[in-house]
Amino acid sequence: MPETSLHSLAVLGAGPVGLEAAALAVELGFDAHVFERGEVGDHLLAWGHVSMFTPWSMTVGPASSRLLARDGWGAPPGDACPTGLELVERVLQPLAASASLKSRVHTHSQVVQVSRHGARKSDRSSVEQRREHPFRLIVRDPGGRESVLHARALVDASGTFGNPNRAGTGGIPARGESYLAPQMSYHPDDVRGLRRERHAGRTTLVIGGGASAVTTMIALAALAREAPGTRAVWVTRRDTPGFSGEIANDSLSARGALYAEGRALQAGASDAVRWQGGCEVESFEYNSATHRYRAILDTAAGARAEEADQVIVNCGYGPDTSLYRELRVHECYESLAPMKLAAALRGAGTSDCVSIPAFGVDVLANPEPDFYILGAKSYGRSSDFLLQTGYEQVTEVMAKLAETAGLRESLRP
Ligand SMILES: Cc1cc2nc3c(=O)[nH]c(=O)nc-3n(C[C@H](O)[C@H](O)[C@H](O)COP(=O)(O)OP(=O)(O)OC[C@H]3O[C@@H](n4cnc5c(N)ncnc54)[C@H](O)[C@@H]3O)c2cc1C
Repeated sequence: MPETSLHSLAVLGAGPVGLEAAALAVELGFDAHVFERGEVGDHLLAWGHVSMFTPWSMTVGPASSRLLARDGWGAPPGDACPTGLELVERVLQPLAASASLKSRVHTHSQVVQVSRHGARKSDRSSVEQRREHPFRLIVRDPGGRESVLHARALVDASGTFGNPNRAGTGGIPARGESYLAPQMSYHPDDVRGLRRERHAGRTTLVIGGGASAVTTMIALAALAREAPGTRAVWVTRRDTPGFSGEIANDSLSARGALYAEGRALQAGASDAVRWQGGCEVESFEYNSATHRYRAILDTAAGARAEEADQVIVNCGYGPDTSLYRELRVHECYESLAPMKLAAALRGAGTSDCVSIPAFGVDVLANPEPDFYILGAKSYGRSSDFLLQTGYEQVTEVMAKLAETAGLRESLRP
C-alpha cells in the first residue's frame, strides 16, 4: 500500500470552489494539492466577458477572503457584479499565487480518473476497509505523461462547463452534430469582442433556452446595432416565451434584468432577432462551398429548415461522471447529481438558488467515504447552482474531513 499521510487531500479543479476548499484545507492543517486541467479559473476565463448576476459580496469565499487578507488584499466593492475575468484576475489568480497555495496548485494537470488503490467499486468492503485504501489519481500533463498520486481525502470540484450538452432532440447529438461540433460553439461566445469577425454582418443560429443562451442573444442584438446585416435566429424547445431558471420577483436584480431583456427579444424588440419556439433539432449540415449551416428542426407544424453562417449551442452543461466511475457514488437518474443532494434539491420545491441551502455534510456525503463532489458539479445537470452555496458546502465538508483526519475542528485560525 502506498505511504499516504492521513492529512493528505486532493482537490480536482482550480475554480472558485476548488480554491476555496484548498484555502480552508491549509488553514485546517491539511496537506492539500489542487489539480487543474487548464489555467487557474479556466472555466470562468472561457466566459470572462460575461457579467455575473451576483455581486462581489456573494462571489468570494470566506476562507479565500481570509487567506488573501493576510497578503493585504482588499475586498472589491460589495454591490458591483464582477465579470468572469475580474473574478479570476482579482481573486483566483492572487489566491493561487499566495504563499500558502503557490506550491499546492498544479495547473495543466488533468485528472484522468480516480479510484482507490487496491480496491474496486464492487469489492464487498466496509467504509473502514475502504479507508485503508488511499485514493489513487491518474494525472496527465500537456505532453501526455501520466503520474500517479495518492490522497486520503478527495474533493471533486471540476465543474460542468467543460462538458456542454448537445443540441439534438432527446439530448443526444443531432444527425451530423458530432462531426460538426468542433467547428460550432458550445459556450456563450464573446460575439462583440474576440469572436466579432465571425458574427458581424452574418446570421447566427443560437439554440437554447437558459441563461447562457439569453446572454448570447443579448450580445448578438447589441452587435446588430453596431454592425449592419447582423442577424440571429433563436431556437428554443419551449414554445412559450420565458426561460428555464427564471424566477418571479427575482431578488438578484442583475439576473432579473437579464431574463427581462431576453423576454423583450422574444417579443420582437430587435428587428435583427427572430425567435422560433417549440423546436427540436433533428440534424445539422454544413456546405463547404457556401460556408453555411443548415439545421433541420422538428416543430408542431412539421419539419423546418434554418440556414446560418454560425451556430452557437447553449443547451446547458452536465457533469463528467466517468472521472469517478470506480468510486461508489449513488447518482440521480435525472440530474446525475449525487442522489441525496438531488433529492434535497427537488424537495426544496424552488429553483431559486438564493433560497436553497447547502443541506449539510450528510446530504453531500457519498457511499464512498471521504469523497465529496462540490461546487457546480454537485448539482449535476441542474443550472441552479450559486457560488455562495458552494462555499457553504466547502465549510461543512472540510469540518467533517478535518474531524475524520484528527485535525482541529475550529474553522478559524
Ligand atoms: C456564464 C455563467 C455565469 C454564471 N454566473 C454566476 C453568478 O453570477 N453567480 C454565481 O454564484 N454563479 C454563477 N454561475 C454558476 C457557477 O457559480 C459557476 O459555474 C462557477 O464557475 C462554478 O464554480 P466551480 O468552482 O464549482 O467550477 P468551475 O468554475 O467550473 O471550475 C472547475 C475547474 O475544474 C477544472 N477541471 C475540469 N475537469 C478537470 C479534470 N479532469 N482535471 C483537473 N481539472 C479539471 C476546470 O478547468 C475548471 O477550472 C455562472 C455560470 C456560468 C456558466
